[in-house]
Amino acid sequence: MGLLDGKRGLIFGVANHRSIGWGIAERARKEGATLGFTYLNESLAKRVYPLAESLNSELILQCDVNNDAEIDSVFAEVQKRWGSLDFIVHSLAYASGDDLKNEFNQTSREGFSLAMQVSAYSLLALTNRAIPLMKEGGSILTLTYLGSEKVVPNYKVMGVAKAALEATVRELAVDVGPRGIRVNAVSAGPIKTLAASGISEFRQLLSHFEGRAPLKKPVTIEDVGAASIFYLCDLSAAVTGEITFVDCGFNVTAI
Ligand code: NAD
Repeated sequence: MGLLDGKRGLIFGVANHRSIGWGIAERARKEGATLGFTYLNESLAKRVYPLAESLNSELILQCDVNNDAEIDSVFAEVQKRWGSLDFIVHSLAYASGDDLKNEFNQTSREGFSLAMQVSAYSLLALTNRAIPLMKEGGSILTLTYLGSEKVVPNYKVMGVAKAALEATVRELAVDVGPRGIRVNAVSAGPIKTLAASGISEFRQLLSHFEGRAPLKKPVTIEDVGAASIFYLCDLSAAVTGEITFVDCGFNVTAI
């Protein structure tokens, strides 16, 4: 018996086997979920197809969250194939390389807007399309980071975007709660992924993290996957609007 037996969910944001979204997907599959995957573009399709197929997924679709037509076609396909949806994992973010390198005060208008659109607005856009498919209620989970509330070196405009994302989680939780849809976030500790490689001095961040985190170990995508299942399954039936740290306790320490 799995915690997600009989549930169907969409995973947005797998780029490769190091992705946090992949850690969540593997565990969700182990718990009995049927999964659909999206990939950003053709060059990532090559990596996502074999991963998705290894979890017996038959729904693998392109979706740039900046493209409303692609979002619409993903949900139209889910309607056609499944007729309903139980959960969404939103595990994606983006900021331009320049905006992660330059001084924060030099962030361009376009770069600020792009980071917000991809990393925060997209949660709203996906939730909006999921509502008609979640007639029996559902769970929406996103991934955030401590940089939303404290200044983490080199996180810059992503910190602003994560603050917006967390506020979006709370707004959506109130908005869709009466329909039985829950919206939550996991705030993961630093993990070496493709997205993390865009953050300067990430290696130093990781070693500082491991030295200071109460559990004295790195966070893995398996750790995040395991904790995420709580939000995707019925054990969290009375939990919404929450941001939960999965960071070996790092966030509670001061020095
Ligand atoms: P990743 O690079 O594996 O995943 C990021 C995903 O975002 C990729 O699959 C990429 O294709 C997707 N993406 C970017 N722009 C997109 C767009 N326009 N449309 C659709 N998809 C788009 O990196 P990750 O670390 O697994 O990131 C997943 C989530 O976890 C992100 O929200 C990230 O901010 C968050 N997070 C990461 C860490 C970390 O240290 N790695 C810590 C906390 C939170």
